[in-house]
Amino acid sequence: MEKNMNRMYINGEWMESASKETIKVINPSNLETLYFIPRGCQEDVDLAVKAARDAFESHEWQQVKPYERGVLLYNVAQAIRNEKEAIAEMETLDCGKPISQAKADVEAAARYFEYYAGVADKVLGETIPIEPGILDYTVREPVGVTAHIIPWNYPLQVLSRSTAAAIATWNAVVVKPAEDTPATALKLAAIFDETNLPKGIFNVVTGYGHEAGAALSDHPNINHMTFTGSVETGMAVMTAASRHVTPVTLELGGKSPNIVFEDCNQDEALDWVTRSIIQNAGQTCSAGARLLVQSTIHEEFVGKICERMNALVIGPGITDPDIGPILSEKQINRIESFIDLAKIENVDILVGGERAYISDSDQGYYFKPTVLDNVDPLSKLSQEEIFGPVLTVYSFDNEEEALKLANGTQYGLVAGIWTKDIGRAHRLADKINAGQIFINNYGAGGGIQMPFGGYKKSGFGREKSLEALRNYTQVKNIAVKTYL
Ligand code: NAD
Repeated sequence: MEKNMNRMYINGEWMESASKETIKVINPSNLETLYFIPRGCQEDVDLAVKAARDAFESHEWQQVKPYERGVLLYNVAQAIRNEKEAIAEMETLDCGKPISQAKADVEAAARYFEYYAGVADKVLGETIPIEPGILDYTVREPVGVTAHIIPWNYPLQVLSRSTAAAIATWNAVVVKPAEDTPATALKLAAIFDETNLPKGIFNVVTGYGHEAGAALSDHPNINHMTFTGSVETGMAVMTAASRHVTPVTLELGGKSPNIVFEDCNQDEALDWVTRSIIQNAGQTCSAGARLLVQSTIHEEFVGKICERMNALVIGPGITDPDIGPILSEKQINRIESFIDLAKIENVDILVGGERAYISDSDQGYYFKPTVLDNVDPLSKLSQEEIFGPVLTVYSFDNEEEALKLANGTQYGLVAGIWTKDIGRAHRLADKINAGQIFINNYGAGGGIQMPFGGYKKSGFGREKSLEALRNYTQVKNIAVKTYL
């Protein structure tokens, strides 16, 4: 265990909560206690926001040159890479994901810091032709103190993508990791602690969402809120932020479709459709949760998906199975409630549909990969995030039907299109209401350089890529009369 795991990081100091209370963190692979974290409260959040504000306004931070911020972030990337194995293990113990997926997350985190390190001295303004004798230009200024509420499914990745962009653009940050998975946020604080980052630029307040999270989103002295998590909590965060006219970026998940036409490369489609729903045991906002398959190949394609699902290895994340445990009792109960609904609605449960038991003594939260066929597109099974390894399947006859199904939910995060007819692929890409479309792939490139974010209830604002800079900067226009 990291030496400071039972402390949070505020103003460059490792400290307990003012509440003196703690929260137990467990390993979902075997339900053993891992460690305790401080139960952050309003007082801690106030302290962290003040520290961030003071640091942001400090001469020390204002004097750091843009390229020096880049070097600092680059060093963070290197430090993450140097401890890749150990950090991946922390992530796997906390959230259960297979260790190879945790290593990929750590690599992605390092890449976010590298990407935004390169951006730090390229945050450019514009000159705008107005009229003779007027020089008009814009500058992109930092917003100030940025707050980041992080979910439990990709703790380090989500934290890295938004804090790297915020620090690259000269802000000071306050992070509230999920109470179930705070280890890598604290590890990142330890890495920042060893850089020359001025005290107070990076702060981590641990605690529950309804306490520390709510205090942060309702804080009058933050200038931007980045939230990733459920729609319900996102709405609460946005409501709180609106009281202070604090801008928010919301990444709220999805019910993303893979649309498979009969002319596709079936082997590729089979691989990716399977992978996109079992990655992180389906606890992924951009999971390919719905399979829309052309009726002519429905039986054959779905049969092959079931074969693949049945062959998957389930087990503790640390043993690098295909599917690790579900995060918590609450989450696995939620998945089971959807299966109960499937039974009531007479859906065909082709494989899975129940908990998995790894050994007699094992107590982890394992769930079998599940395929539900003939699902009503209007059912809750089709409309809500199940957030488990549960694929729902639908048939379509033609492009119009496929489009109607694809757009038929409240979400709009990602869509995959599988066809060799590239004209059809582009027609659909044009009409699908989602922030990211993948044609004959699902998740190409790891996404660091691509804008990511939702349509509809998947949220708004974009993370990753240069688009994220809009979240953490504000534009000032300056018009100068050049002669008097
Ligand atoms: P959640 O939205 O409640 O939690 C996400 C983060 O928000 C955590 O850090 C949590 O502590 C914090 N939080 C909770 N209540 C808060 C509040 N009132 N104010 C401020 N912050 C608060 O997610 P959950 O309850 O852990 O999971 C429920 C569902 O959310 C899941 O089943 C899944 O559908 C969805 N989810 C989506 C994502 C995603 O990546 N889109 C991530 C996690 C969870």
